[in-house]
Amino acid sequence: TTFRYRNDYLNELRQANMAIYALDDKGDPGKYVICLTDCTEEMTIRKMLEDSLDEAQRSNQAKRTFLSAISHDVRTPLNGIMGMLEIAYMNIDDRAKLLECMGKIKTASNHLGELINQVLDMSRIESGKMSLQNTNMDITELLQESVIIVQPLANNKGHELNLTMDVEHKRVLGDSVQLKQIFINLITNAIKYTENGGKINVFLRELASQQDKKQLFELVVEDNGIGMSEEFQKHIFEQFARERTSTVSKIQGTGLGLAITKSLVDMMGGRITVESEPGRGSEFTISLRFPV
Ligand code: ADP
Repeated sequence: TTFRYRNDYLNELRQANMAIYALDDKGDPGKYVICLTDCTEEMTIRKMLEDSLDEAQRSNQAKRTFLSAISHDVRTPLNGIMGMLEIAYMNIDDRAKLLECMGKIKTASNHLGELINQVLDMSRIESGKMSLQNTNMDITELLQESVIIVQPLANNKGHELNLTMDVEHKRVLGDSVQLKQIFINLITNAIKYTENGGKINVFLRELASQQDKKQLFELVVEDNGIGMSEEFQKHIFEQFARERTSTVSKIQGTGLGLAITKSLVDMMGGRITVESEPGRGSEFTISLRFPV
């Protein structure tokens, strides 16, 4: 049996093993040898080996899931492109049909391109090859530029997209490229997962709480869209997690955007949270600290 004991000499809690042997093996009771061995080191090594085996098995499983998810997600648009090309060949003299096929090929190849870019981003982050740059930027300009980029998407769906900023120290040090990606991902999702004619509010606030000469900023992206179930919210930041497939929702996506966003926010030492209710809308909040 293994038990814990206090070693007063070393003044620490250690583990020991106790074994009892009968002195003669003829069943004559009376004399025993008790063997006490300190096995703290052995147990520590065993625990380390078990942990690393666990870790290896988990990362292997993660790789398998990742590969099977990608191969499925890549095949779908690729099959679509090949099928449309076939139809185009068969209708080579029908201009209207050709245009229709080309439109569908364009949509599928855009999606494929986005998927490949996101998979590359994700694997760069996971392998630790993505490092953050420190650029001197105007955080309010960066957010305005992001809104300008996604505005046409919002217009296409007849959404009202409002931006409110309350920032005193605009110039901060941070990775402007990745921060812009975070902004764009969240606002694009709000646009995508809101029925036509919706309302999307984006707030950027500087909170009065300086720490180590760093200022706290909070970005809130709020929509009155389709929202998410509580169960799904638990998995929202996992790779390839989507509440509905594109076939069901008719909304194209990869399920990688938020996994990337969360990894980037983590790398920047920030926090991302979500509140949502099906049919009412969602609210994503990011808090990040930057030196001003
Ligand atoms: P994608 O949009 O490519 O599917 P994301 O990782 O950006 O991938 O989002 C994952 C899933 O989270 C989406 O498929 C959707 O189900 C849900 N989601 C994200 N943002 C919102 C939102 N603003 N409102 C409702 N659902 C959302």
